[in-house]
Amino acid sequence: MTRPDLESLGRGSSWEGVRAVVAGLGVSGFAAADSLQHLGAHVTVLDSGDDEALRQKGTLLEILGAEVRLGPGATDELPDDVDVVVTSPGWPPTTPLLVAAAARDRPIWGEVELAWRLRGDNPAPWLAVTGTNGKTTTVQMLDAVLRAEGLRSVAVGNVGVPILEAVMNPEGFDVLAVELSSFQLYWSSSISAEASAVLNIAPDHLDWHGSAESYVAAKGKIYENTRIACVYNVQDPATEDLMRAADVMEGARAIGFTLGIPAPGMIGLVGDAIADRAFIPERSSVAAELGSIHDLSSQAPHNIANALAAAALARAHGVSARAVRDGLRGFRPDAHRITEVAIVGGVRYVDDSKATNTHAAQASLQSFGSVVWIAGGLAKGASFDGLVEATRNRIRGVVLLGRDRDVIADALERHAPDVRVVEVENGETGLMDRVVGAAASLAQPGDTVLLAPGCASMDQFANYAVRGDAFTEAVRRLA
Ligand code: ADP
Repeated sequence: MTRPDLESLGRGSSWEGVRAVVAGLGVSGFAAADSLQHLGAHVTVLDSGDDEALRQKGTLLEILGAEVRLGPGATDELPDDVDVVVTSPGWPPTTPLLVAAAARDRPIWGEVELAWRLRGDNPAPWLAVTGTNGKTTTVQMLDAVLRAEGLRSVAVGNVGVPILEAVMNPEGFDVLAVELSSFQLYWSSSISAEASAVLNIAPDHLDWHGSAESYVAAKGKIYENTRIACVYNVQDPATEDLMRAADVMEGARAIGFTLGIPAPGMIGLVGDAIADRAFIPERSSVAAELGSIHDLSSQAPHNIANALAAAALARAHGVSARAVRDGLRGFRPDAHRITEVAIVGGVRYVDDSKATNTHAAQASLQSFGSVVWIAGGLAKGASFDGLVEATRNRIRGVVLLGRDRDVIADALERHAPDVRVVEVENGETGLMDRVVGAAASLAQPGDTVLLAPGCASMDQFANYAVRGDAFTEAVRRLA
């Protein structure tokens, strides 16, 4: 049987005769199945789950004409007649169904790759962000700046709204602020962003990628085919290495962001001023002021770094200095990202449940003086030695919870043997009350009790937000 030429197919084509398998019926899987169905493809959706929400989505897609298989076993075998697989970002490449697709030489796309192919005529340019930490905050800052310029912009991708939804929106956008995870980049090959940034690189998701090298290589793909500006972190040379190794479009510029004084070709800080020496004609001798760090909701170094990266991407799109300042001024980060919950008995309680890896937890610990640190959960194969070595002088005590708490306890034993550690077992009830109670008893007035677990939450909570909410409620009860 002849197979369709997928490379020739876009938004304006009929996809009739294309047999697409959508692997995983999550948010992006639904968007992919819906769009492909709409374009005329024959769509088969597979998901091994079978709960009420999945069934509802499945029914909807069936009404539109898709074939939907749910429940245990549904994803075991790749259907015989398949031209392309669109996979959920949650599925590692070792998943048998994807291994089978690769063995049969069938292309495997993520929803992001599909979205790129379906952009249509006169599409909105993409300003794309990846990195181990700060992606969501940075794309939201970027979106705020683009809107302050009066542009029709939306933050999409890993941030919650599928990119396909924005791309297929009939009214369209002027520009997209796109968050890309390493998983999404792994399954992408054609994206050509107007400007792209890698914020930072630290080990994470080693379980999914199989190795640190594979994780870093996936991140680096964001720079491929970038048209105008590749933004890198001067303080994180690994990001610059990725940029230098990438095949970019002719004329694309390297733009650094730095917490120091910017050299020509960089955006950085001069005193408290955010200074652009990259996007002004007279950059060899002077800088343009884009605002002040006091325009930001937090002056923690990592937060300033995110703002600098957002400013660089916005400037690459031609946004004015005034809009950068106004956008950053009005911006407030999402919940569970260094959110102050309460001050009880002179002790500040801070929820950074979103610190799900050691790099984020370290940035968080370094934003405070004397800390009682609440940590633990699923470590995803990470080591805590570097983190503990770098922050032990700030740590008054530690409360550990979750499945991989031994990994952290061992690192503390090695590098901070004098720090008091309390381990909280999984009990029948009131886990967070016991955690917060233990932290309160270790803390002294002036300290910060910081939930920055350095681990994913799914061993004990539905997700990081539920963990953060549980902490917040326990603190309120304590108060
Ligand atoms: P992501 O989308 O990459 O997970 P978020 O903006 O949601 O990033 O932040 C995730 C966590 O990382 C939070 O705990 C936050 O405090 C921390 N963080 C944010 N920006 C940075 C950064 N530039 N470097 C290190 N940690 C950061």
